[in-house]
Amino acid sequence: MSWIQDINNPKQRLWEDFYRNRWQYDKVVRSTHGVNCTGGCSWQVFVKNGIITWEMQALDYPDFEKQIPPYEPRGCQRGISFSWYIYSPIRVKYPYIRGVLLDEWRAAKQRDSDPVKAWKSLVENKSIRTEYQQASMLYTAKKYGPDRVAGFSPIPAMSYLSYGGGSRLLQLFGGVNLSFYDWYSDLPPASPEIWGEQTDVQESADWYHAKYIVSMGANLNMTRTPDVHFISEARYQGAKFTVLSPDFSQVAKYADWWIPVHAGQDGAFWMAVNHVILKEFFIERQVPYFTDYVTKFTDSPFLVVLNKKGNNYEAGPFLRAKSVARYSNIENGDWRFLLFDKKSKNPRMPKGAVGDRWAKQPGKWNLEMKDGVDNSDLDPLLSFIDEKDDVAQVEFTDFDTLTVFNRGVPIKYIETSQGKVATTTVFDLLVARFGLSRGLPGDYPSGYEDTSTYTPAWQEKLRQVYHYYRRRH
Ligand code: SF4
Repeated sequence: MSWIQDINNPKQRLWEDFYRNRWQYDKVVRSTHGVNCTGGCSWQVFVKNGIITWEMQALDYPDFEKQIPPYEPRGCQRGISFSWYIYSPIRVKYPYIRGVLLDEWRAAKQRDSDPVKAWKSLVENKSIRTEYQQASMLYTAKKYGPDRVAGFSPIPAMSYLSYGGGSRLLQLFGGVNLSFYDWYSDLPPASPEIWGEQTDVQESADWYHAKYIVSMGANLNMTRTPDVHFISEARYQGAKFTVLSPDFSQVAKYADWWIPVHAGQDGAFWMAVNHVILKEFFIERQVPYFTDYVTKFTDSPFLVVLNKKGNNYEAGPFLRAKSVARYSNIENGDWRFLLFDKKSKNPRMPKGAVGDRWAKQPGKWNLEMKDGVDNSDLDPLLSFIDEKDDVAQVEFTDFDTLTVFNRGVPIKYIETSQGKVATTTVFDLLVARFGLSRGLPGDYPSGYEDTSTYTPAWQEKLRQVYHYYRRRH
């Protein structure tokens, strides 16, 4: 081993300074990543000569709630490499301009140094203007019509100017202005449709309080990295964790139950889950928390007009407040809706409809279950099943097979300015749609094994069809 030499001269190890210098800094600043990931993690950013040299997760979060595990350390792989994006040679730093326009602009500035006059010489010159505006959008509009141009513009939450620029262009142009949510399938549309609010949900720390958690449409380790620790902590707390995903993902590997649904099948799966929940937690036994919640905070008790269709009925619009005598002169009466009050045994108009949002008199756009005229307390009836005037056969369509079927729905007749109309509640329609008869006549499934909409056997049938499709193609 005589050929191995000990190097004792420090000057011969100067190359190590490269690694030491890599971590030098002259100040530490606090920051996060404004990239719409919504993590909002707190980072310490180490800076030398105005250049970010490295980042480290902050470890000084306050304990908001002693009963849940701490938030920190928060962060993700994208976040800790964020300075690479900042100094990347391909980072977009300035607005892009079309090459033709830039050439014309430079030439115009040569002709006249006054920028306003230079710009005037471009926009008022028809051939130059056509040259730089001749883009694919105009071509498409000319050949097929402006409504064939569809686009989206990111992102209102982060940059209203860039969002406004693109969306206003599409609107004025006559194109189709999609939201960026449509584009990258971020927001479940059912959330605002049902709750009336966009993503008005609890924060991830609240997962710790859950007893049953289902993950679907996301790979939490990848997409909710700073919060995913609450899932494993909730499991120590006794929560059962189920994962729906086509692949045995990073999340599926620590779930209690992995359900390998195929892409596009989860909607059918959840229809069947709702069928079971409604049957076992509303019809066979009543759970007061459930009943109270859906009565107060969803549109379930609101009255829907049933329109005659042949010998049967079909669901029509919500019953408008101005169509009943008590509210006939109410402001925005076409945009306020009614439910059936147990106390007065009459239709009543609660606060909080879109008509209240735009009313001259402020203060009624809220979730108080009170009459919009005299402020009396309301106690809405969720279902007409025990107080029905009659049972109507209502038409539904099975969008799987496009067959039409009729199911019995409990109704009440309400006196309106158009005469007596048949009404039911949103909840009664929902229960019929989900195929739960509650003893009413009609084309209802006989049980979970029946393959009509939306039983567990029905969703299983679709799954088999899909398997078959996959095998053949
Ligand atoms: S989740 Fe990642 S990208 Fe988002 S703020 Fe946290 S560290 Fe940054």
